[in-house]
Amino acid sequence: MHCPRTHIELTKLIVGGIEVYSSSNGGVFFDNRQITNFSDPTLKRALVLAEHLAALPDSDADLSSRINCPKCPSIVMMRRFFTPLHVVEIDECPNCAGIWLDPKELNKIHENHLSAREKQLLLNQQMNDHGFVQFDIPTNRFSRQGLKKNHNDNTESLVELALASLFDK
Ligand SMILES: [Zn+2]
Repeated sequence: MHCPRTHIELTKLIVGGIEVYSSSNGGVFFDNRQITNFSDPTLKRALVLAEHLAALPDSDADLSSRINCPKCPSIVMMRRFFTPLHVVEIDECPNCAGIWLDPKELNKIHENHLSAREKQLLLNQQMNDHGFVQFDIPTNRFSRQGLKKNHNDNTESLVELALASLFDK
């Protein structure tokens, strides 16, 4: 398989026992919804992959054009939002359900990740407000260091963060 941006062959990586395909420019292809194993930044393999990709050099490839699936070269990938807050747009293959992320998009997914509790809070708030609610997520709260430091009260502090974000507005 080849990178849809640089057209250089993708490299197969095994991260936490799961195969992914990385591009030399920091892009990555997930076969058949494997992205769900890497979208939650509380999983170690998700952080390991994000760090690996972020260390790769950027290319000057055009990241705005529509691309074909690395696995199904005749199929144009569809753009859709991945995160509940509609911040990160990804490319998904309508044929094989593979997902392509451009450089830094995995980091953005991690920064905008919501816990199950936060998703419920957001949903409740949106229903009460009958419209769009601004819901800012502090960036980098899922850094490796942050996880270690807050290991014991991680869940509690996330809920506090969510509440603070909702009711400060
Ligand atoms: Zn495909």
